[in-house]
Amino acid sequence: MVDDFLQGGADNIDVAVIGGGPSGLAAATELKKQGVSRVVVLEREPQAGGIPRHCGHPPFGMREFKRILSGPIYAARLVENASAAGAEILTSTHVVEARPDGHLLIANAKGIAEIKARRVIYATGVRETPRSARKISGDRPLGVINTGALQSMVYLEKRKPFARPVIIGSELVSFSAIMTCRHAGIRPVAMIEARHSVTARWPSSLFPPLVGVPLGMATRLVSIHGDDLVNGIVVENPNGVQRRIECDGVILTGQFMPESSLALCGHLEVDAASGGPLVDQFGRCTDPSYFATGNVLRPVETAGWSWNEGRNTGRWVAADLAGDLTVSHEEILITTNSSLIKYFMPQKIVLSRSGGGMANLQLRFSRSARGELIAGNSDGVVWSRKLVVHPERRVLVPLGKLFHDGIIGRIELTFRETQT
Ligand SMILES: Cc1cc2nc3c(=O)[nH]c(=O)nc-3n(C[C@H](O)[C@H](O)[C@H](O)COP(=O)(O)OP(=O)(O)OC[C@H]3O[C@@H](n4cnc5c(N)ncnc54)[C@H](O)[C@@H]3O)c2cc1C
Repeated sequence: MVDDFLQGGADNIDVAVIGGGPSGLAAATELKKQGVSRVVVLEREPQAGGIPRHCGHPPFGMREFKRILSGPIYAARLVENASAAGAEILTSTHVVEARPDGHLLIANAKGIAEIKARRVIYATGVRETPRSARKISGDRPLGVINTGALQSMVYLEKRKPFARPVIIGSELVSFSAIMTCRHAGIRPVAMIEARHSVTARWPSSLFPPLVGVPLGMATRLVSIHGDDLVNGIVVENPNGVQRRIECDGVILTGQFMPESSLALCGHLEVDAASGGPLVDQFGRCTDPSYFATGNVLRPVETAGWSWNEGRNTGRWVAADLAGDLTVSHEEILITTNSSLIKYFMPQKIVLSRSGGGMANLQLRFSRSARGELIAGNSDGVVWSRKLVVHPERRVLVPLGKLFHDGIIGRIELTFRETQT
C-alpha cells in the first residue's frame, strides 16, 4: 500500500517535511545539499509552494533569488530547487496524524498509509482567524472570507466573489487584500481598523487613500448583515457611536495563528502564547525526532524570513542526523508574566557544546508601549534594552546574551513601561 504513495518505500526515509511552503522547501533543499539521502516533502495541496502560490503580486524573492518576483513564480522556483536537489515532493497528500518517533499517518486519493522517518520537520505555516473564532454577531450570509480565500479565488480560480467589500484589519496582509481586489477589478468601499493606528509599518497607511479606499481608524466591526449575500455591516467608534456601511462582502484579514492542529491533536507540547510547537533554539520540539520551522513557529513572518528559517533548520537536522548536534540535558526555560508580551520563540534554550541554533529570541507585543525589556534570573538582570514596541512588529533579543556560561534554570522576561 505504501509503495502506492512512495516509490522508494516508507521505511528508509531520513527526513519527512510536513508542508511544502517556503520554509519546508528550503529545509528539504538544504538537507539534500548537506548530503542527507532521503528527504520527502508531504504537501496537502495539488501543488507545492505554500501561501505564495496564491499571492499573485510582488515582492517575493529578494533574499533568496536577489530578484523581485510574484508569489507564484517565486513558489515555482522553490519547488524546482527542491526537486533539482533531489527531494521527493508528494502533493495532494495530507498528514493526518503525527505520532511519536517520526511515525506519520498520511492520506491521499489512494488511501491511508503509515510512514516512518528518522526526523520530521513541521512546516505547516499559518492561517488567518476565521469569522467563527472572531465572535462577530449578525447574520450568516455568503461573502465573508479571509485574505487567503480571496487570493485563491482571484489568482487560482479566476473568480470574483464580490464587487464592493469592506476590508477588516490593517496588517501587511490587509494591503495584500487591496492589491488582490484591484487585480480582479473589485473596489473595496472601506478598510477599517479597531486600533488607533495602522498595524503595518509606515508608509503602508498611504496606500489605501492613494487607490481610493477610505481608511477608518478606531473603527470596530460589530455585526455583518444580509440574507443570502452580505448587504452591509455595522461598525462602532470608541464612543460607542454605530453606523452602517453598505457593502456586498467582508474580507477578514490577519490575526494569524499557526497551523498546528497536528501538534495539538498529537503528542507534542504546543506553546499557548505563540500557538506553535514548543521548541528550543534548534527548532526541536518536545519529541526530539520532530523539528518545526517557518511560520508554524509563530505568527507571522514574511516568506523570505520563513525560507531562511527553513534553510537553517535543514542544517540543524542534518547535523542532528550526523550526531553533530551535541546538546546536554540542561536547559534554560524562558518565561514571562507580562501581559504586554504576546509571545516569544524559542521557549527554551538547551546548552549545546556545538553552538549554533537561532541567533535571536523573537518576540511580539500586544499593544504599543515605551519602556525597557529586561531578561533576568535569580542573580539579577542578564540583558536589557530600552524600546518602543508596537503590536505585530518583530522584536529580536540576541540569544547569545541570554545563555552564557553558568546560567541554567529560568530566564524571566519583563517589560518595565515608562510613561510618555
Ligand atoms: C493569506 C496570507 C497572505 C500572505 N501574504 C504574504 C505576502 O504577501 N508576503 C509575504 O512575505 N508573506 C505573506 N504571508 C505569510 C506567509 O505565511 C509566508 O509568506 C510564507 O508562506 C510562510 O512559509 P511557510 O513555509 O512557513 O508556510 P506556508 O507557505 O503556509 O506553507 C505551509 C504548507 O503546509 C501545507 N500543510 C499544512 N498542513 C498540512 C498537513 N497536515 N499535511 C500536508 N501539508 C500541510 C500547506 O498546504 C502549505 O502549503 C501570507 C500569509 C497568509 C496566510
